[in-house]
Amino acid sequence: MKTSVIGYPRIGVQRELKFASEKYFRNEITADELDRIAKQIRLSAFEVQKKNSIDFIPSNDFSLYDGMLDTAFLLNVIPERYRALNLSGLDTYFAMARGYQGELGDVKALAMKKWFNTNYHYMVPELDDDTNIRINTDKPFKLFLEALENGIKTKPVIIGGYTFLKLAKYTGNKDKWSFSEKITDSYVEIIDKLVSLGAEWIQLDEPCLVNDMTESDKKHFISLYKKILERKGNAKILLQTYFGDVRDCYGEICGLDFDGIGLDFVEGTKNIGLIATKGFPKNKTLFAGVINGKNIWKNNYRCTFDIISKLKKVCGETVLGTSCSLLHVPYTLRNETKLPENYKKHFAYAEEKLSELSELRTIISSGNPEKTNEFINNTLLFRERRVEEDDRVKEKISALSDKDFVRLPEFAEREKIQKSALKLPLFPTTTIGSFPQTEEIRQARASYRRGDMTEEKYEKFIKEKIAQCVELQEKIGLDVLVHGEFERNDMVEYFGQCLNGYIFTEKAWVQSYGTRCVKPPVVWGDISRARPMTVKWSSYACSLTEKPMKGMLTGPVTILNWSFPREDISLRESAFQIALAIREEVLDLEKSGISVIQVDEAALREKLPLRKSDRSSYLDWAIPAFRLVHSGVKPETQIHTHMCYSEFSDIIKEIDNMDADVITFEASRSDLSILDDLKENHFRTEVGPGVYDIHSPRIPSKEEIKTSLRKMVSKISPEKLWVNPDCGLKTRGTDETVHSLKNLVEAAKELRKENNA
Ligand code: GLN
Ligand code: ZN
Repeated sequence: MKTSVIGYPRIGVQRELKFASEKYFRNEITADELDRIAKQIRLSAFEVQKKNSIDFIPSNDFSLYDGMLDTAFLLNVIPERYRALNLSGLDTYFAMARGYQGELGDVKALAMKKWFNTNYHYMVPELDDDTNIRINTDKPFKLFLEALENGIKTKPVIIGGYTFLKLAKYTGNKDKWSFSEKITDSYVEIIDKLVSLGAEWIQLDEPCLVNDMTESDKKHFISLYKKILERKGNAKILLQTYFGDVRDCYGEICGLDFDGIGLDFVEGTKNIGLIATKGFPKNKTLFAGVINGKNIWKNNYRCTFDIISKLKKVCGETVLGTSCSLLHVPYTLRNETKLPENYKKHFAYAEEKLSELSELRTIISSGNPEKTNEFINNTLLFRERRVEEDDRVKEKISALSDKDFVRLPEFAEREKIQKSALKLPLFPTTTIGSFPQTEEIRQARASYRRGDMTEEKYEKFIKEKIAQCVELQEKIGLDVLVHGEFERNDMVEYFGQCLNGYIFTEKAWVQSYGTRCVKPPVVWGDISRARPMTVKWSSYACSLTEKPMKGMLTGPVTILNWSFPREDISLRESAFQIALAIREEVLDLEKSGISVIQVDEAALREKLPLRKSDRSSYLDWAIPAFRLVHSGVKPETQIHTHMCYSEFSDIIKEIDNMDADVITFEASRSDLSILDDLKENHFRTEVGPGVYDIHSPRIPSKEEIKTSLRKMVSKISPEKLWVNPDCGLKTRGTDETVHSLKNLVEAAKELRKENNA
């Protein structure tokens, strides 16, 4: 039995790629130096996989920024506005990733979207009628050869043509699928070239196959692959899927001339049934994703052996693999020097998952049932009861009744009460919460954490920053102010630290987009609030201004979705536990005089099942969890929420049903089509569609913001429109932030005039 890895983390064990790229952006290192660091990261990934005797080690899974962007670049899908800058190849690539503002021009980045149900984000390729698809770079070939030179014949990985076209945005007048022919030619050329360099297996990633597929989707998928596979020559093509099951196209996949099919048996719980009922072609290799690429718990070998033994009855050659790319888990437990062994022994990061793969292979290959059983029993020790239960939390959850999820009076009445209490102008301006986190602030937090700075000094420092931030916002002229979130390293970890039941890692970084990484905390036990979380900072900020001060919290679904969750109780149960803890904080903020409270649900959509028919099982607890947080506040307290994307047209009723008073969301990177959906659905929650993109250092002009706002006013009733950036400002520099916000406030003022307010 062989083992395979779909993809490996690439940001560097110590986030070397992040730091190097950022240096490159600041012109502190050259392209060659960046390349050298990238190469080291790739080689060490090969090395560790080789050490664990992985048979199918991926190459070209590495990316300087994002895999979809790489594929666009590879296929010459480079919009004219980036070409026109006349930059080097690398800088054109980064301009697509981050936008460009300088002597040569001023262009926005490509849109960025969530990668399926993960916290990873991909760059959305843009096709237009002038796009000339052809091979533009040699990256897959270079990386294959690089590994070969180091003695490893890898399995090159490329995002497949169906997923590429499906996720790309098309702005032309023809049909997106008219590119199929060029796509086919390009993939055939890539395959040929790789084979001529010595590749045997080539992995084409087609995660879009786990989404709902229409008949026309199926038709496009089949016709694309029929043509590619007819011309594949000696190559062995692995069709790799992940993040779910392939219930809509299982038969079609089996009928095509793929040499291997990769299925996810962790999230794709229906895959095993498909194989059992429909069989599996004997002439194909099954790549069975049994090691969870998304969570950090040790594999449950009992389950895995069960799956394997079921598969063995039906399938021919079977390869053990990861359920998806290991990109979504941290590198290695070896760097967790502080976490006690009794926790650590339950964990497996990417590197440990490699040893799980090789351990599983050894024992399965031994074919000795007694040994296998003994082995399973030993590893089951790691599944021992590990959670300190908290009966009080459990009792509270079971005592909840319907009325705990309902806020009264109902929305329309509250809206009136709040309008007269808050006395805000038309088109009120605000921000999403965080202000630029300077090096000084990061340093202060770090030295406080290390114990080098006393609590007293630290508090004084943060309060100074809050005061400066409040002063700045007053000067800029914003209407609803924030304290700036300087006390937070992260919108989840910070709250986790104030909750019982959470544990924290030191180095469990996971890439979120480009150079940005997150370090999800771990839900270990039953959750309850250990102490007040934000009241001290928010009420201090509130005391400094006459304007409304927004209290800032992270919502239960986001806290859970951005943590590594427990697998021994349901997500619903964990979400309600967190909701009760955040509810206590909401009520304390209200008591301390905060009249506007924002409960961020940046990640509400993250674990939304990819298929429509599976969604209610998630929304049926996620929306109530949010409602539970705010149902106890007074009518005049205004509840805001924020989401980091605008893709909610398919769950728009549910979003409205969260029963917040105001929702801010990302709208600047994607087109404003969400506005039509809001209108059509009579969305009643007030809305702040972000008027500029904070993921890029580019400063939006006043005119540009006004243009967006005018578009918004044409679709949204002016009384319901808020004006704000599309997310928190913590990753931005101070100067660009001040400029941008000034333009934002000016734009809102002029728009008020235009609307006679
Ligand atoms: N309040 C948070 C901030 O401004 C929200 C961040 C987010 O949505 N990712 O940083
Ligand atoms: Zn956001």
